[in-house]
Amino acid sequence: MEITQLLPRLYQVDLDFGQAYLWRDGDELTLVDTGIPGSGEMIAAAVGSLGLPRSAVRRIVITHGHEDHAGSAAEIRSWDGAPVHVHSADAPVVRGERPREEPVISDFERPYWERVTALGITAMTIPPSTVDVVLTGGEELPFGDGARVLPIPGHTDGSIAIHLPHHGVLFAGDTVACLPRPA
Ligand SMILES: [Zn+2]
Repeated sequence: MEITQLLPRLYQVDLDFGQAYLWRDGDELTLVDTGIPGSGEMIAAAVGSLGLPRSAVRRIVITHGHEDHAGSAAEIRSWDGAPVHVHSADAPVVRGERPREEPVISDFERPYWERVTALGITAMTIPPSTVDVVLTGGEELPFGDGARVLPIPGHTDGSIAIHLPHHGVLFAGDTVACLPRPA
């Protein structure tokens, strides 16, 4: 786990695979995405490194229902009941009611997808999580001085971006991706 402060109130948490983000409002945190299944302890360590208890995580926002974003939602929700927020179109996947659809991979995305496949992540199933808040887009969530939910179907039907207009921040999930440069 590695934590990087991107802005005074925004932290990127690099997990074994992928990232999660912590937004801080005083002693309250909002977690955007949760990593693959089993990432909870790494995220707890990130929260601890900010001098805060696990209960500081007041809400969990999932950008879309893929294993590397929703994988630890149930585990982190179990800490202190932080409500899980998911778009209506991906909520059944997060609840375990239906498997996720195979993604449509463009030529541009294929190398990235092959790397993910090689790690075995695409064969994972998400431990089912309660979805406390079903989003449809257009909501404003009470963090970051007003966080706007933007529906951006494509990567999945229920993909969302979260825009913090007062801070110039856009959480875009997997809508924008880049490969590491070859060594
Ligand atoms: Zn994805």
